[in-house]
Amino acid sequence: MQRIYFDHNATTVVLPEVRESVLSVMSQAYNPSSVHYEGRQAKLLVEDARRSVAKLFCIDLRDRKHEVVFTSSATEANNMVFASTKNMMVITAETEHSSVLRAAAMQNGKVKLVSVDESGIINLSELEHILSTAESPCLISIMAANNETGVVQPLEEIVAVAKKYNATLHTDAVQVPGKLQLDLSDFDFISCSGHKCGGLAGVGALIYNSKMKLLPLFYGGGQEKNLRAGTENIAGIAAFGKAFEWNILNSGARQQRLLILRNLLEKEIRALNGNAKIFGSSAKDRLCNTSMIMMPGISAQKQLILFDIEGFAVSAGSACSSGKVASSQVLKAMGVSEAEAACAIRVSLSHTNTEAEIIRFVEVWNKIATMK
Ligand code: PLP
Repeated sequence: MQRIYFDHNATTVVLPEVRESVLSVMSQAYNPSSVHYEGRQAKLLVEDARRSVAKLFCIDLRDRKHEVVFTSSATEANNMVFASTKNMMVITAETEHSSVLRAAAMQNGKVKLVSVDESGIINLSELEHILSTAESPCLISIMAANNETGVVQPLEEIVAVAKKYNATLHTDAVQVPGKLQLDLSDFDFISCSGHKCGGLAGVGALIYNSKMKLLPLFYGGGQEKNLRAGTENIAGIAAFGKAFEWNILNSGARQQRLLILRNLLEKEIRALNGNAKIFGSSAKDRLCNTSMIMMPGISAQKQLILFDIEGFAVSAGSACSSGKVASSQVLKAMGVSEAEAACAIRVSLSHTNTEAEIIRFVEVWNKIATMK
């Protein structure tokens, strides 16, 4: 049976263009700290990748306003932000990824949560109220787009409020590349990851305002200007740069296509079952590839197994490391009942998916929904 992969917010296939460059990097002994020719070549690869990663978010490193440090993951990048801002109060939301919520709690400790409405958008007046009454400097950490629902936060308004109260701004932009074009040059910290748009897992980056004092999480060699000790994952970094470069050049038309596929999927499911729900669909902006779909009365756990048997890889919101289907914090924060949240699965598409795959998925969805 041909497998159909609809779980691209969890991870993506390495792009063919990226695979080639990874293979060529892997056939060399590359350590950017070495002074010989091979070392210098490795350094060039890293610097190229740094420029591409920043460029995807409309940041030109030649301006010297931002810098990029490569890490092992976006999770590490998020941890670095909170470890470096211990003098600040963190304002974040319950709909954030666990690598923000848990890192903020463990690394910084002073955390205030702003609520979200039923579409998953943060309450801006509540954010402003917290900022206006804060007794210490504040760090606002709000993700650009949600990994479970695809809901895009009102970033321009958040930037305006941050500027008004002189707050530091962080965004977890992991789900942006390939799905949204955003200028994030007003942000002080941006976390991103290599494996959500055609690169490799095990590499991430933190883009940071050069005025910020960033602290390392590890001590050792002086790699990455003393900010990230440990020999660089050169294949991962080169792949990261190539994947971002590819997405800068190719995303526009593909996003239009993704939107058509996603809208077809949602229209067909709504037509089949008037009680099905698409969580986050009332938000003004949502990622073009993501649908969080509630099938009345059938648990996500059961759906995942049945879809898997039928050849589809989908997930129940955020994949929990234990492989278990845990109830979604994101949906809970949006006011969705336990019972409905337990029946929601996430479909996340890529430009490689087809209309025929959507039609087949809808057929299987109907089969599961009407099972006796
Ligand atoms: N933030 C968001 C929104 C994510 O979706 C993910 C991964 O699913 C991460 C952070 C963690 O990224 P990484 O796998 O690079 O640690």
